[in-house]
Amino acid sequence: MNIILLGPPGAGKGTQARHLVEKRNMIQLSTGDMLREAKNSGSEMGNRVATVMARGDLVTDEIVIGLIKEKISGENGGGFIFDGFPRTLKQADALDSLLKECRKSLDFVIEMKVDDDALVSRITGRSSCGACGEVFHDVTNPWPSSGECPKCSSREQVRRADDNEESLRQRLMEYYKKTSSLIGYYYAKGDHVSVNGLASVEEVQESIAEVLNG
Ligand code: AMP
Repeated sequence: MNIILLGPPGAGKGTQARHLVEKRNMIQLSTGDMLREAKNSGSEMGNRVATVMARGDLVTDEIVIGLIKEKISGENGGGFIFDGFPRTLKQADALDSLLKECRKSLDFVIEMKVDDDALVSRITGRSSCGACGEVFHDVTNPWPSSGECPKCSSREQVRRADDNEESLRQRLMEYYKKTSSLIGYYYAKGDHVSVNGLASVEEVQESIAEVLNG
């Protein structure tokens, strides 16, 4: 089963994807994670995208399509979760062709519906474990006072460079200008379902499980 998690920054796509990886052995393909890896490794491409990402703009379609192309023909376990991809119609078309080429299909496009006011506080309070990627929030799920990640005992708490109010506003602008039209596109194709992304993490997990279990 291959799915897309669609929604603005802070909708909870990464958190839900991690759960599906654990529970269903699915494979998370997050273009944001891949780009951050490239940036941290100091590769030529990573250096090129660093300022674009810090501003909250989208990187070029060619780069992200290339990243997905590298992964899509490989191991797909319980299926792929496309997280943060596609973000433009060109990317959606490219995904369609790539899936066809390797005889795979798209089963669901799950839109995580949230309102913009919730996003600012979700994003500006967000941190994660630098070792295992567990996600925390300063108010709702704080990094333990022991200083250790409860999942893997790492002491490395990290915050994303673009998780600040200014970049978030730009990321939201990009979402509404370039990505939100994909909702209509997938609705017309018949693949679209939506869940309430404002519910608790567990409730959203349940809603997604209901969709996947049919
Ligand atoms: P994310 O981790 O999905 O929030 O992505 C972080 C940043 O990486 C975005 O603000 C963009 O600059 C870039 N990015 C991630 N995925 C894409 C994509 N599919 N298309 C263009 N830019 C992307």
